[in-house]
Amino acid sequence: MNRRNALQTLTTLVALPWLPACSRASDTGAAAAPAGAKTASSKIVRLNRPAAAWWDQVSPAAYRMLFEEDTEPSFSSPLDKEKRDGTFVCAACHLPLFDSAHKFDSGTGWPSFTRPVAGHIGTKKDFKLVWPRTEYHCARCGGHQGHVFDDGPPPRGERWCNNGVALAFVPKGQPLPALRS
Ligand SMILES: [Zn+2]
Repeated sequence: MNRRNALQTLTTLVALPWLPACSRASDTGAAAAPAGAKTASSKIVRLNRPAAAWWDQVSPAAYRMLFEEDTEPSFSSPLDKEKRDGTFVCAACHLPLFDSAHKFDSGTGWPSFTRPVAGHIGTKKDFKLVWPRTEYHCARCGGHQGHVFDDGPPPRGERWCNNGVALAFVPKGQPLPALRS
């Protein structure tokens, strides 16, 4: 085996573990799609839009939650008691974030879910309180939604605790709103 062949073999071996992920991405075509053009795929393209540009498209309260990472008072959102079938979308860009099938009553006074729509949420560690928490946000516009905890119901054990004002509810049977860019 000469040096070039050896190098090729090595490259193939190193590349192999990544093949499944790469083929999934290219299969959906999402990587080549313009920002926000697709929502059905799991690959969401982050909008290149400053937070201030959302100011006139959401309520002042929603803006504080979404783009200043504030937290609404518990039991203040009507969505906490929303029990109809439907979809919860980001109040800013309208990306679907949660399905009503995964909503549960956590008793905390905030809309709570066992899981988000796959690929539509981003997370980061948050040290605003004494203990670290996991903050999560809309993967498309970056708007803050809430925090995820590990004391949720089985089988996943997750509790996605959301500011109601950062969401909009679309009952089943009604068309989802167009994405905003
Ligand atoms: Zn959004």
